[in-house]
Amino acid sequence: MALTGGSLLTPKLFAQQASNPDLVVFNAKVITVDPAHPRAEAFAIRNSRFTAVGSNADIRNLVNAKTQTYDARGATIVPGFIDTHNHAVGPVLLYEVLVGNPFEVEFVTIDSIIQKLKTRAAQTPPGTWVEGYFFDDTKVKDGRLLNIKDLDQVSKDHPVAVHHRGGHTSFYNSKAFEMADVNSKTPNPAGGTYDKDSNGSLNGRVTDNANRVIGRVGKRRTLPPESETAGLAYMSKMFAKYGVTSVHHESGSPPVMQKVLAEGNLKHRISFEATGKALDDMIAQGIKTGTGDEWFKFGATMEHIVDGSFSERTMALSFNYPGTNYKGNVTTTQNDLNAWVEKVHRAGIQVNCHANGDVAIDMYLTAIERAQKLFPRADARPKITHCTLINDSLVRRIKALNAVPSLFTTYAYYNSDKFSFYGEDFMKRAMAFRTLLDAGIHAAAGSDFSPGPFDPRMAIQGMVTRTGWDGKTWGANQKISIDEALRVNTLNGAYNSHEENLKGSITAGKLADFVVFADDLYSIPMDRIKDMKIVRTVVGGKTVYEG
Ligand SMILES: [Zn+2]
Repeated sequence: MALTGGSLLTPKLFAQQASNPDLVVFNAKVITVDPAHPRAEAFAIRNSRFTAVGSNADIRNLVNAKTQTYDARGATIVPGFIDTHNHAVGPVLLYEVLVGNPFEVEFVTIDSIIQKLKTRAAQTPPGTWVEGYFFDDTKVKDGRLLNIKDLDQVSKDHPVAVHHRGGHTSFYNSKAFEMADVNSKTPNPAGGTYDKDSNGSLNGRVTDNANRVIGRVGKRRTLPPESETAGLAYMSKMFAKYGVTSVHHESGSPPVMQKVLAEGNLKHRISFEATGKALDDMIAQGIKTGTGDEWFKFGATMEHIVDGSFSERTMALSFNYPGTNYKGNVTTTQNDLNAWVEKVHRAGIQVNCHANGDVAIDMYLTAIERAQKLFPRADARPKITHCTLINDSLVRRIKALNAVPSLFTTYAYYNSDKFSFYGEDFMKRAMAFRTLLDAGIHAAAGSDFSPGPFDPRMAIQGMVTRTGWDGKTWGANQKISIDEALRVNTLNGAYNSHEENLKGSITAGKLADFVVFADDLYSIPMDRIKDMKIVRTVVGGKTVYEG
């Protein structure tokens, strides 16, 4: 891959560049997210970077015969959105059975799920998995959980699984349990459960680590050879449509990313977060975080999982889940976590762990504090994926380490139907943008697609209102302003991957990534931010989406 540097222009070069713009945009309400110049009317672009930002008069002065001009007619322009946690599951979207809506709040019936899977089973040889994706337990019209009997109606000859979009729980039919040799007497493995109904029989739901036992049996369908590149190209198109110009990819394949880029089908910039063999190779070859170019860079690691899920109610808490004696799933030990964090940290790679509950965040911070003591590294910015439930002492430790949390974004809107499960006292400390920003912590936006939709408009609406699709408000003390929500979704995302000098604001010298809205973010009612029309998404001065 091309490893051209992402360094900024020197001031002198800058003045020359500014005087010969390729493109000038004027008559805009530019929200720059640059604290030095928060608002502007116009900007100039040359060689894929902003070269000047200012008033209409200032910038018009730079236009020459070769300059393209774009009259924004009063539209609002913001920096391109940065999603710091995304499982860009393009092949799933293109080739698998989707039993829920990946992008919006939509209710489905259990019958519709059964019918879709029956259709797939009819085209699938017995013994091969029939799987459904994007199930959301609180978006079901029937008002109950899917169970083993529902899925036995799909097939008795195929193992059948329906995966919750949260990624930590799945539902199986009898055939799947039988093939895995799991029955109602099988003990739960560490960090997972086979759930039972009130009679003690398997009800079909399996959580966290227990899924591994069932997932390893049976055959899987093979996808066409072009599925990976087609999937990424499709994902990239969707990112552009929603104004997302940079994405931290949880795993994926660098060669596939390079291929899609070379074919001209990559519309967003990638921070690649490695796991497994790719991470081992990075360590072995001495590839550090930050290696790469403006389109593809090695970022932090992929989320290393410490506990369960927020949306699926398996995260590790220091207290019981309401009405139970269950405290959630811790999926690793402190010793294993310490060893993993130390190994990655020593290799010069930005550490990233998935930690939702207060117990998991504490374990992760303990591991980082230990690694920093053994091997101090300045500006390491350990990344905390989700960082959902905080308390004062955790916030102090996050600040002291300058750790960078990547919080759920669309959940306040999309998952409000799950918060009654936790209660208001809990929600006052959950997805705590207000608390973290007030403490001077660079909280960023990490949609966690597929668990959450990644639409930044839905994210911003949730952050400023804390009100869900059902009209219910949870943890209103954690509301932030529109300006802050923009910063979370742009500049703080750039900071999350050590790229704040390259992107995240409309600032001369940075990459010309921006989004044009038809509506004014500041006058539209706050409960309609998610419906704001995106007129244009631009990456490196090139339009990648027009609405
Ligand atoms: Zn994730």
